Amino acid sequence: MAKTTQSGVLGVDGALAMQRRLLRYLQGGRVHQAILLTGPDVSLKLDIGKAIARFLLCKNPENNNFCGECSNCRRIEKEIHPDVVILREPEEDTIKIETIREVTHQMGILPLEGEKKVCLIDECHRMNQAASNAFLKTLEEPGAGRYFLLMTTQPGSLLPTLLSRMVQFPFKPETELPLEDETETAEFSSLFQKFLEQGNPMTVTSALTEKDRTLRFLQFLETQLRGATLSGKTALPSLKNLPQESLTEKFHAVLDLEGRLRSNASYALMLEDLLRQHFSQPLRN
Ligand SMILES: [Zn+2]
Repeated sequence: MAKTTQSGVLGVDGALAMQRRLLRYLQGGRVHQAILLTGPDVSLKLDIGKAIARFLLCKNPENNNFCGECSNCRRIEKEIHPDVVILREPEEDTIKIETIREVTHQMGILPLEGEKKVCLIDECHRMNQAASNAFLKTLEEPGAGRYFLLMTTQPGSLLPTLLSRMVQFPFKPETELPLEDETETAEFSSLFQKFLEQGNPMTVTSALTEKDRTLRFLQFLETQLRGATLSGKTALPSLKNLPQESLTEKFHAVLDLEGRLRSNASYALMLEDLLRQHFSQPLRN
């Protein structure tokens, strides 16, 4: 069956790597209720936002992806699904608190058809302070089955508190990070092993003083956690004995940190915190 409806999402050159990462993330199961898509291409992000909505609401998922053809997929594409609230191209420069209240109100109403509701907010950096604070409250208790997909070309203009509540997926094809090479993977493995033996996160953080390298380390952790979850294959043997739930939890924690790190300078502290909280205890027994 031709999946032309997916091509806009999974077949865009340049942004492919990040889209694969996003798909892997969605297929991981526990999807965060607030996702931020950032990058210079407005229409690409909206397409991807709609793809996530389809992924969440599709009636006939195939191969762990949305079908693109069921009534939900089709109506989301046309932006006429009653359980998908889309705030796009705000008429004014500012997204005001009244608008956010209206969106929150709509999201609070029970879904008309299924159990999930999705809200897409385009160019979300246009929220003013009051709107941002109101939205922050919504994100603190989004409600069961409610998903907020935000898009922005200017993540730097968002409140840090808001950023910290969302998992970020940056779409910047031209600045895509190079994949970690084998030498670096081996190095990361040995650093991580040393940390497990000595129990000191500084073993890792002192060796990762550049932000890009820290991001690659997190991607390395994600790859190992995914490997351990899906096939039991991982360069970190200590992950193999962990229950799936624990692996998923760690995967999300790493992904979450990666998102925050991209917009925050104090990465060494954040990495130290992640290692201490999620990897210290359960692995050192
Ligand atoms: Zn579908």
